[in-house]
Amino acid sequence: MFEKISEMGHEQVIFCQDPSVGYRSIIALHSTVLGPAAGGTRCWPYATDAEALDDVLRLSRGMTYKSAVAGLNFGGGKAVIITNGRINDREALFRAHGRFIERLGGRFITAEDVGTNATDMGYINLETNFVAGTTDRGGDPAPWTSLGVFRGIQASAIYKWGTDDLSGKTVALQGCGNVGYQLAARLHQAGASLIVTDLDAQRASRVADEFNAVAVAPEAIYDVEADIFAPCALGGILNDQTLPRLKAKIVAGAANNQLLADHHGEALSKRGILYAPDYVINAGGVISGSIALAGGDETQTRQTVERIYDTLLKLFEMAAADHLPTSLMADRLAEQRLQAGRKTAHTP
Ligand code: NAD
Repeated sequence: MFEKISEMGHEQVIFCQDPSVGYRSIIALHSTVLGPAAGGTRCWPYATDAEALDDVLRLSRGMTYKSAVAGLNFGGGKAVIITNGRINDREALFRAHGRFIERLGGRFITAEDVGTNATDMGYINLETNFVAGTTDRGGDPAPWTSLGVFRGIQASAIYKWGTDDLSGKTVALQGCGNVGYQLAARLHQAGASLIVTDLDAQRASRVADEFNAVAVAPEAIYDVEADIFAPCALGGILNDQTLPRLKAKIVAGAANNQLLADHHGEALSKRGILYAPDYVINAGGVISGSIALAGGDETQTRQTVERIYDTLLKLFEMAAADHLPTSLMADRLAEQRLQAGRKTAHTP
């Protein structure tokens, strides 16, 4: 266990339980060098505790890098609540979670993630102020995430094809949840054609009906003829099995931890596929949460989220100049900012 967390550089990992309400969670604080560890709470029926631990460790490290590259004064953390598939009393569950977050005294600030919503954040807020994404604090981050991803797709397009006009382009969209649905709306409005999928067939067919998309089975999304692949479901989907099947020239989507392993970033680059690093393109949510916490308004949020376009373009250019895969270039930028922070930071 210690080998694993020291290899990934975590400061602290906390295992929490409140059996009276069926609450079991892991909270991982990866880094508080640049500020309090910010990161969502994911609620998921993990098959094993080891799987939950892996997920929270990887996701929390991603949050450190995300905030660092987005220029936010936040560190990285994440929480996963391990469910058995059914939640009887959401208020009791999320209040229990809130009590554990409160005990961390502000070292961890949470918001929504897969399986949680603004109402759940409201329950957490009954126990602690260290929460964003409640209806009066930025609300659902998904609209901002989808805006950032849309602008990131445009930045990828102009870098790859010399224009950010998406009309006539085909996007293969994996996952039609909160972010995927809203991204589909933006892409449709921009004139792109959509091929979509979701494990929940109803979600895929809703997008198909509303945005004139073609719905395919979940496994088929890797084989479709598309210009852009936009992963908006879960992580680890860019791997040895899926990469050789992709026809797209750009991979740009909202999902966290898209690369199964670091070397898959290199594999994408070797295949001539432009990869918009996940934690750079999907920073809209954490940006909106941090601005809301600081008392900023919607205009400020929009302007900051829009900057994802410029950040990505710069990153693509730097990666090309240094002959590095874009994923490694992003890690390097994040590490540089952390290194500068470490010089001035107090011991956590
Ligand atoms: P969500 O739970 O609303 O949607 C995810 C969707 O993906 C669900 O409809 C689910 O059925 C589907 N799905 C899961 N596995 C799939 C598979 N193998 N094939 C097809 N569909 C599958 O979650 P969301 O809020 O839309 O987030 C989507 C992704 O974006 C997640 O990885 C999340 O961590 C990341 N993300 C979200 C935000 C945000 O603001 N919500 C911010 C940053 C990153």
